Amino acid sequence: MPLWSELTHKQFIGASNNTEVAVLVTGALEAHGEHLPLGTDTILPEYLAKRVAERTKALVLPPIPVGNSWIFNTFEGTVSITPQTLIALYTDVMRAVFNHGFRYIVVLNGHGGNVSPLQLAAQTATEQSERVVIIVNWWIDLGEKARREVLETYEGHAAEDETSEVMHVRPDLVDMSSAVGGRVESRFRVISAAYREELYPSAVWGDPKTASAEKGKVIMEAAEEELVRLIEELERGVLPIKH
Ligand SMILES: [Zn+2]
Repeated sequence: MPLWSELTHKQFIGASNNTEVAVLVTGALEAHGEHLPLGTDTILPEYLAKRVAERTKALVLPPIPVGNSWIFNTFEGTVSITPQTLIALYTDVMRAVFNHGFRYIVVLNGHGGNVSPLQLAAQTATEQSERVVIIVNWWIDLGEKARREVLETYEGHAAEDETSEVMHVRPDLVDMSSAVGGRVESRFRVISAAYREELYPSAVWGDPKTASAEKGKVIMEAAEEELVRLIEELERGVLPIKH
């Protein structure tokens, strides 16, 4: 199935008549250690979304490549959007998608800072008729078993998991010679602009040194299969809930 942005408005009618499912990637533009690109949280879910576009009838929207990256705002290259702006943007996009007749929006989210704004936007956008937003925080919701099998260290930020995944998807963008680990622990949630860099030194939480493209391949392939299954179920009107 073609991507939403590559269709003409006439072609869109046919493509949207074929499916009730739209996929929206929400990413971020933020520091990911010295070894991974700023767009990591967009690149990974966008890769999965494009795979889905090849295998299902779901229409894939262009990604929203910036998110709430307050925690990394002092690092070079980070572009952070306030939660208020994100809630308004997500709500408008979701409403527009629903107004085109879609019943389900699968949000393929790549970034933790987007979770709360997405939930609030989805509450507003689904108030009318039988509309459903499914938020897939892909780095925890997909490929869970595969992660447990291949990862040797904690998942984190620019850690073994993300580094492995980018090594598989875009090896040209990874510089392992600059990879350093770091894991500052805090028993409670410490929120303070003044201590951001102390909590995430070098914009890393975890140990990227044990990463490999092979591990990334295992995780991404498992994630892709689970995502395709979710969309196929939605196409049959089955929600991913158990009674
Ligand atoms: Zn990330």
